[in-house]
Amino acid sequence: MRVLLVEDDQRIASDISQALEASGYVVETVGDGEDAWFRGDTEDYGAVILDLGLPLMDGLAVLKRWRANGRRMPVLVLTARGSWAERVDGIDTGADDYLPKPFRMEELVARLRSIIRRSAGHASSVMAVGEIALDERQMKVTLRGIPIALSLLEYRLVAHLLRSRGRVVSQQELNENVYGHDEEHDSNALEVLIGRVRKKLGTDVIETRRGFGYTIPEIST
Ligand code: CA
Repeated sequence: MRVLLVEDDQRIASDISQALEASGYVVETVGDGEDAWFRGDTEDYGAVILDLGLPLMDGLAVLKRWRANGRRMPVLVLTARGSWAERVDGIDTGADDYLPKPFRMEELVARLRSIIRRSAGHASSVMAVGEIALDERQMKVTLRGIPIALSLLEYRLVAHLLRSRGRVVSQQELNENVYGHDEEHDSNALEVLIGRVRKKLGTDVIETRRGFGYTIPEIST
């Protein structure tokens, strides 16, 4: 899943980015409010982590504009410690949750997972389709109850298709959610990756819809 991280403190940004990538997310980082507003308005992200004190445009203004434009992605706001006014403003503006600084990375990742689940209407961090189950908290995929070893890229692919189950996901959307916007990869890398996942999970798990993309059907056949 693609996550937009808006944080102007480079050290914090790089710590968060590392923690999220280790949890299987594809992270794109921006350091000012105008850039953040533009990206969030024009690109599709599974979630956003938004610092409030930002150069050029403050985080609340960014969030207000996104919501006014109908952008519905879940947003976790980072606030200054003890600033209850910021928290109230953030929630009134359409933040899904907030986290006061400083925080533990474990808590940030857990809160992010939770707003993503809630926005998708899932109560649990385990998703299952047919014989495949994915536990997002443990980053574990099982087939008929047996754990399957996946690389980080394979995991991102399976996780995105499972979250989007029942829907055909375009090649572009998959590329963005597996490799991210900025990472270099060959044009046929995705097909190779899908081939490897099919070898591990079974050839009929991911269906190809020629000209449209790929899907994990809601009810496995
Ligand atoms: Ca800041």
